[in-house]
Amino acid sequence: KQTGRNKLVTYQPTSLKHRFANQIQMETDLRKAITHNQLLLYYQPRLELSTDRIICLEALVRWNHPQFGMIPPTDFISLAEESGLILPLGEWVLREACLQKARWLAEDKLDYQIAVNISPCQFQDEAFADKAIQIIEQTGINPAYLEFEITESSIMQNMEKTVAVLEKLCAKGISISIDDFGIGYSSLNYLKEFPIHCLKIDRSFVKNIQSNSNDWAITHAIIHLGHALNIQVVAEGVEEIGQLDILKETTCTTIQGFLLSPPISAQEIELTFHEKTYI
Ligand code: C2E
Ligand code: CA
Ligand code: CA
Ligand code: CA
Repeated sequence: KQTGRNKLVTYQPTSLKHRFANQIQMETDLRKAITHNQLLLYYQPRLELSTDRIICLEALVRWNHPQFGMIPPTDFISLAEESGLILPLGEWVLREACLQKARWLAEDKLDYQIAVNISPCQFQDEAFADKAIQIIEQTGINPAYLEFEITESSIMQNMEKTVAVLEKLCAKGISISIDDFGIGYSSLNYLKEFPIHCLKIDRSFVKNIQSNSNDWAITHAIIHLGHALNIQVVAEGVEEIGQLDILKETTCTTIQGFLLSPPISAQEIELTFHEKTYI
């Protein structure tokens, strides 16, 4: 409140942070959370509109704190990044996503790709690609089941290094998507240089697609850019049927959002998304 109407700040966990004695305490607790089984993954389905089938599940981390209950990632990812804990946390997330995929494969159900969010801090780490490949190989799943969601800021920092990392991951069969597409760096040059499989249109454009002609125009342009480059395009944050109707008219191919499902536990995914078609 003290900072006025800064939109970024409204998402800061002031109430949560007050529950921890201080930042050090929160960091200590988060370090413990990674090794003491307090983290868990929720999954949000991605629907392919032409087939009405789920094609992918995005893994989204949660922290089940022994005193404070379920803490959303917006409340601890930036602390993890500042403290360096994002590296072990990110490894935990990737390993758990692979293990869950392996469980589903063993039970012969839910034949979907899994998308894992990669923080720019992880992506900048020299050892990132090798470590990621090692984790996947340890779990025994085919890397082609995985997609890494990275942001534009991740890839724009060192173009040469980025190409090498992305090519290494692609050679293993891992797909790459650009998360929050449109709100980051405005250069489109990388789209022709890098092996990219998917653009995720940021929720902020989709939100007012029905009422704001600029948001509609940008969404429309990204969808057609995707078609022209033969890249999958996902509209994020689809909450209403009206948004879905416009996205279909705009020839959008895939969606994610509360309209279909919020992120839910693996058990809930199994109960809800074992059917063939959804909308
Ligand atoms: P993101 O990658 O853009 O993930 C999408 C966020 O939008 C999720 O929030 C999801 O719950 C929310 N969302 C999905 N559909 C809708 C909708 O229809 N309406 C609205 N209002 N929201 C929707 P969540 O799970 O709280 O995650 C927030 C952010 O935290 C993520 O944004 C991502 O940047 C980060 N994050 C989450 N898990 C991880 C992780 O394992 N590693 C890293 N590095 N970052 C993560
Ligand atoms: Ca994401
Ligand atoms: Ca996103
Ligand atoms: Ca986002």
